[in-house]
Amino acid sequence: RLITAAPISPKEEAQERALRPKQLDEYVGQEKIRGQLQIFIEAARNRSESLDHVLLFGPPGLGKTTLAHIIAREMGVNLRQTSGPVLERAGDLAALLTNLEPNDVLFIDEIHRLSPVVEEILYPALEDFQLDIMIGEGPAARSVKLDLPPFTLVGATTRAGMLTNPLRDRFGIVARLEFYTPEELKKIVTRSAGLLNVEISSDGSLEIARRARGTPRIANRLLRRVRDYAEVKADGDVTRDVADAALLMLDVDVIGLDVMDRKLLQTVIEKFGGGPVGVDNLAAAIGEERDTIEDVLEPYLIQQGYLQRTPRGRIATASAYRHFGFAIPGGQVA
Ligand code: ADP
Repeated sequence: RLITAAPISPKEEAQERALRPKQLDEYVGQEKIRGQLQIFIEAARNRSESLDHVLLFGPPGLGKTTLAHIIAREMGVNLRQTSGPVLERAGDLAALLTNLEPNDVLFIDEIHRLSPVVEEILYPALEDFQLDIMIGEGPAARSVKLDLPPFTLVGATTRAGMLTNPLRDRFGIVARLEFYTPEELKKIVTRSAGLLNVEISSDGSLEIARRARGTPRIANRLLRRVRDYAEVKADGDVTRDVADAALLMLDVDVIGLDVMDRKLLQTVIEKFGGGPVGVDNLAAAIGEERDTIEDVLEPYLIQQGYLQRTPRGRIATASAYRHFGFAIPGGQVA
């Protein structure tokens, strides 16, 4: 899938790193979180303490990793990065924790995918900066307690609901990232275009921003693809018309829905009479993982009012019918 917000190649990761804002005041949008973090970071710095543990949740590409790096930088400390599925054994986490320097940031992406044994080790580490581990095996095994330096865990997850309660309770700062408005994404596109030396008009930026599914990662990705198009098919400058032509070629429709978004909505309407349809049935019908539907596809469709989640399943809204030019069946549609 060309435009998915989720997994990215190593090459794209490098491109992203180059566009990543490094300071809090370069970080666009998310005003509430930014305002809170500014205060908490300054207070912690003034007391020479570690910042409270931070949980960031929201769909992929909204800036969780970026914010973790900014927190470390603003605190003036190192960031160590890992992810839930990578930490298989207790020892993997222990090795990371014992190498931290005071007040460092440990960033764990996909923290909802930690194994239970690793999670157990994490609790006392978060609470008392203590490590309780077993060393050796069989009769020689013994339990060792180690003091850790104070540190800040920044955890990221697509859905806060997937975290166990005891883990969630150990975060002092919990922030939900929201989709960005077209105006906010326009600022991001304009800034990225500057860094990439792309000539772009104001309405060219806005066109990409409007069609980026509220997501900075997608906005930057579309900008790179539109730049390719502009260089080959036009004189290199990104105007509104060039952006529009490039986005249509990329199968991004006028409201920014991509192939999978449209397939999902059209399937609900055409195969399931508008719903309600359970997510597992929907996943089978469109050949997509249930997790991808719940983490990547549906949050934006729900936020934009094309899809509703009800206890009986997903329902296509009147806006969805209208967008695809289907007649709205009387009374049935939300
Ligand atoms: P996540 O960790 O939530 O999947 P990232 O932090 O990796 O998302 O963000 C993806 C890309 O989007 C980053 O490389 C960065 O360039 C851009 N980005 C994200 N949030 C912002 C923001 N608030 N302002 C500017 N650029 C952003």
